[in-house]
Amino acid sequence: MIIVMKTHAEPTNIEAVVQRVEELGYKVHLSRGEARTIIGVIGADEHLLQNSTFEVMDDVERTMRVMQPYKLASRDFSEATVIDVNGVQIGGKQIVVMAGPCSVEGRDMILQTAHAVKAAGATVLRGGAFKPRSSPYSFQGLGEEGLKHLAEARAQTGLPVITEVMSPEDVTLVGDYTDIFQVGARNTQNYSLLKALGRQNKPVFLKRGISGTIQELLMSAEYILAGGNMQVMVCERGIRTYETATRNTFDINAIPALKEMSHLPVIADPAHGTGMWQFVGAISKAAVAAGADGLMLEVHPDPARAWSDGAQSLTFQRFATLMEELRLVAQAVGREI
Ligand code: PEP
Ligand code: MN
Repeated sequence: MIIVMKTHAEPTNIEAVVQRVEELGYKVHLSRGEARTIIGVIGADEHLLQNSTFEVMDDVERTMRVMQPYKLASRDFSEATVIDVNGVQIGGKQIVVMAGPCSVEGRDMILQTAHAVKAAGATVLRGGAFKPRSSPYSFQGLGEEGLKHLAEARAQTGLPVITEVMSPEDVTLVGDYTDIFQVGARNTQNYSLLKALGRQNKPVFLKRGISGTIQELLMSAEYILAGGNMQVMVCERGIRTYETATRNTFDINAIPALKEMSHLPVIADPAHGTGMWQFVGAISKAAVAAGADGLMLEVHPDPARAWSDGAQSLTFQRFATLMEELRLVAQAVGREI
């Protein structure tokens, strides 16, 4: 059940509702908006609660049941979530562009890439240090050394960084360096990892599973939210279909669907969604037009020599050109880049 408080409800009245929920043996999730507080009531037998129990209390505007299995992630639960990462707003008018190489391959290449993507207008630097490769014989990432290079790139450019965390044991180490935790498509349903991230006080970027439905993605987000970490954004990165002409099938429908079903910011990843740099521009523009709050793009100083995902990586020049085009699309749909 969700209890919506009146705008500018008295803190003592909010506290009284919270106490009543707890007395009844349920857990509380408080979502404090600018003007309004929403109280989520969580518990296995929530259906036993009477709405009237709360509707008579001071400053309660209304109560509602969330029918979807994802509750804290549901659109009914909250106004659109805006996540602040060192001053970069994700989920607001500004479209966030997270750009950088698939893998951090060394100090010079990540520093060079960080400066190039920043100059073109990216506001977050991406780079993998722990890589989930399909083959155990492929490059697995530089690990902590890669994280150190990312931190140096942040210090030089001021760009917040996002990098993937693959297992619960690595959460503390990765958290020491990153500004945003990335959960990859192969780990979307790694519930131990999601629970560990629910206990962190840092934003989480959660990708859709390789064959995952939109509802499964939101249920995975629910794990993180239910742990108390409300800073979650979700990402469409293409799904497995019968089509083989492209690496994955980018599901453009997922963008408006997620925006309608959830209050969480929605990011598009056209690089993994297509697997081909030639298509990355078209799908990036389509994603912005469809209402995405941000893009994740792979950019490499020399894609032909990239240690991973070179075929879907943009050169610095191609990235800069695409940013110019994206500005026009963003403007056309009332957003900014
Ligand atoms: C990546 O971002 O480099 C990555 C491995 O993505 P995904 O988890 O979507 O395959
Ligand atoms: Mn990649």
